[in-house]
Amino acid sequence: MQETTSGGRADGIREYVADGIVVTWEASRCQHAAECVRGLPRVFDRDRRPWIDPTGASIDETVTVIDRCPSFALGYRTHDGRGRTAPAVAEKGGPQRASSRSAG
Ligand code: SF4
Repeated sequence: MQETTSGGRADGIREYVADGIVVTWEASRCQHAAECVRGLPRVFDRDRRPWIDPTGASIDETVTVIDRCPSFALGYRTHDGRGRTAPAVAEKGGPQRASSRSAG
């Protein structure tokens, strides 16, 4: 059975760890758009603690839903080198750019 662990980092980002994936969540960025909760309630459940359980779905399912998070509150790192992090600095006067890459 997989086990989820979670913990906070000094930068305020929480991490939720399962086999092959680390899901990150930055509360201050969350816009409560609920894309995650609607898209994959087995992983993202606001009534559960911890509210993110990356063992609830496959890595690919989880990554697909996280990529829809409009605020970049959610991110991930996978064992095969995929990742998504929030843009470090918004470009002045321009849209924020995604930092997303694929191993494939
Ligand atoms: S999709 Fe992103 S912004 Fe929306 S509730 Fe989930 S974490 Fe927050």
